[in-house]
Amino acid sequence: MTETTFAASEPPVEVCHLTRRFGATKALDDVSLTVPRGGVLGLIGGNGAGKTTLIKHLLGLYRPQSGTVRVFGLDPIQHPIETLSQIGYMSEDRDLPLWMRVGELLRYCQAFYSRWDMRFAEELRDAFDLGPQARVKTLSRGQRARASLLVALAYRPDLLLLDEPSAGLDPVVRRDILGAIIRTIADEGRTVIFSSHLLDEVERVADRIAIIHRGQIVLTASLDELKETHRRVTLRFDRHFDRPPELTGAISATGEDCEWTYVCSHDREQIRIAATAMGATIVGEDRLTLDEIFVSHIQG
Ligand code: ATP
Repeated sequence: MTETTFAASEPPVEVCHLTRRFGATKALDDVSLTVPRGGVLGLIGGNGAGKTTLIKHLLGLYRPQSGTVRVFGLDPIQHPIETLSQIGYMSEDRDLPLWMRVGELLRYCQAFYSRWDMRFAEELRDAFDLGPQARVKTLSRGQRARASLLVALAYRPDLLLLDEPSAGLDPVVRRDILGAIIRTIADEGRTVIFSSHLLDEVERVADRIAIIHRGQIVLTASLDELKETHRRVTLRFDRHFDRPPELTGAISATGEDCEWTYVCSHDREQIRIAATAMGATIVGEDRLTLDEIFVSHIQG
């Protein structure tokens, strides 16, 4: 392989120690993330967490101030054509040429991408109920989101980057179409990274999760692993505490007096041993939703 050859065997995304500042703001702080081929990664984080900044580095729109970014083994700044030709991107701002009609937009995109699949594009146009004569500038916010998603999908990219794809989409498109499309792409062995605040949606379609908070990746894991290792445990102590007694593996704690509830990321047996050593009894235990796991990491 020469250095500029797109390498399907390389991970779609490999980010090492990436840091990015905007003035005094550290938008990304020593981020390392490898995304394996195939499957869906849900990139979740609060407002201003750094999701868009990370995605823009993958597209080569930002040059790393320190650290490295590789997309299928290539540096997107040095090899923009090779990397961008593998990436479908739906931007947060849904940037589209406003002066075009929808039909023209499809033909315009076809000219740029050798793998553009006009039949699939027309199928999506139908499913998204976008008339070919409609002008992009007159489309509603949700219709623009549909058009933007269509453009990102129709040349069947190996890596699909969706920045807040659900924003502006109505619940039916969101639930039925977006979810189905994302799953189909993953099932075809391609890779999807999508950022979202809608954690029930992420939970429905993602296989892997990366939580980003204040520019740092605080956790990456498969969804199954995350749900297996996180649980809520309530301990009853034989005396009162003003603050939650420290429990190994606890991410956050709430409660009062002699009863405290912890969110833990340890396995059950380790929690049981720790609780016994503290003289506590486990009086409640249950699994967590992705939403609860996310909140406990961010607040913890
Ligand atoms: P949201 O979910 O609200 O869209 P996000 O996770 O995508 O947020 P980013 O847009 O990556 O967050 O922003 C991360 C931080 O970097 C924020 O504090 C933001 O204000 C700052 N930032 C991002 N882009 C710029 C820029 N071009 N100039 C200055 N600051 C920026």
